[in-house]
Amino acid sequence: MKQQPQFHCYYLGNPYPLYTIVDPSVKKVTIQWDGEAFTCITPEEGEININDALKSFYTKESKRVIEERLKFYQPQFKVKYKSFSIENDSKKWGSCNSKKHLTFHWKLLMFPLYAIDYVVVHELCHLVHMNHDRSFWRLVGKICPNYKEAMAILGTEKTRDL
Ligand SMILES: [Zn+2]
Repeated sequence: MKQQPQFHCYYLGNPYPLYTIVDPSVKKVTIQWDGEAFTCITPEEGEININDALKSFYTKESKRVIEERLKFYQPQFKVKYKSFSIENDSKKWGSCNSKKHLTFHWKLLMFPLYAIDYVVVHELCHLVHMNHDRSFWRLVGKICPNYKEAMAILGTEKTRDL
């Protein structure tokens, strides 16, 4: 039985309704996404905590989307990243270490694609420039001309860091 949407969840910058379905045959709360709405499938009625289920949905989905965006932008860089992971508890939107491992925050999936692209490009640019000097920002701006708009929506325009 489908109920009225409880609230909205964001996917690539747009809000979509979240419906709840009670299905006693499932073991735990899961989130599904069909391109138009989110559905929360829960084993029992009543108050439920969907935070963990949402977090694992966003983690899985952001991994898929970010992998695509990395594939899209990587050919513009001579240096290749080695691996990447989606972080759960980091305070940063993204990071790049000396082993060429990149990290991205799971909440990025709630933002428009241009903001995700900026974070992806920012971390790929760190493969070339490890600091945030002028040549770093010149490279970011070349590949991602609207990066300042992305910084504003991610709230990083003051620190200019990720
Ligand atoms: Zn940085």
